[in-house]
Amino acid sequence: MSPLRRISDLRASDFDTAVTEDSIFVLPVGAVEQHGPHLPFNTDLLIAQACAEAVISAVGDELDLWLMEPLAYTKSNEHAGTPGTVWLGPETMMRIMEDIGRSVAATPVRKLALLNGHGGNSSLLNVACRELRLNHGLETFLLHPSLPPDQGGGDSDTGDKHAAGELGMGIHAGFAETSLMCHLRPDLVRMDLAKRNVPDHLADNDHVRFGGAVTFGWLAADFGPSGTIGDPTGANAEVGSQLFKQAVEQLAEAFSEIKTFSFNPTTKP
Ligand SMILES: [Zn+2]
Repeated sequence: MSPLRRISDLRASDFDTAVTEDSIFVLPVGAVEQHGPHLPFNTDLLIAQACAEAVISAVGDELDLWLMEPLAYTKSNEHAGTPGTVWLGPETMMRIMEDIGRSVAATPVRKLALLNGHGGNSSLLNVACRELRLNHGLETFLLHPSLPPDQGGGDSDTGDKHAAGELGMGIHAGFAETSLMCHLRPDLVRMDLAKRNVPDHLADNDHVRFGGAVTFGWLAADFGPSGTIGDPTGANAEVGSQLFKQAVEQLAEAFSEIKTFSFNPTTKP
């Protein structure tokens, strides 16, 4: 058996014995998009993959989790126009999710978990979760290594102090994400190029702001040419290591609830 429980490492002759209706498939969803001047294009992909691999190493045997190959190119159209960014339009991405769901539904597996590292995918993936439930009867789940501040996340024991400088709007290439990369792939990080770029003027709003009750359509370029939305200065591997550990622990807890999740618990033995 694959040490990492990677589905694509299996042979067709192994599949029926390895994968059962109790198995859970885990699809890391990344992005290849600009991440400011200091982080690589594959930041979200690396983080989603690293978290998926770590949680499957930790609890994959116990919970019968199986790693799918990651989806690298996704809905990054808020970064359209930046050379190096490769983005799928929403219709294309939804079609891909539909095709992946159909393929998963052709196996005995009934639970598909999307582990998403790119905040720009979240809304679409929530819609996809329902479509796959309706079209293929799958039980679908959407998880994040950490929830972006504009989706209700952002607080953490280790990130709080510095994240205060982000005013709750460190949503792209900011302190937490940069720290994670300093931990996971320091060779790809250029801290000498990391600069604060926070839309301070939105912080006075009670409603219309990142993390507020009123959302708004935005493009990275709406916040200037920097590409960063947040404050990566001061990011470091020590914080990144703590954030990563926390993320993996929380994901492990979430997967254990996904394992026992049922719409009709009384009908279960
Ligand atoms: Zn990112």
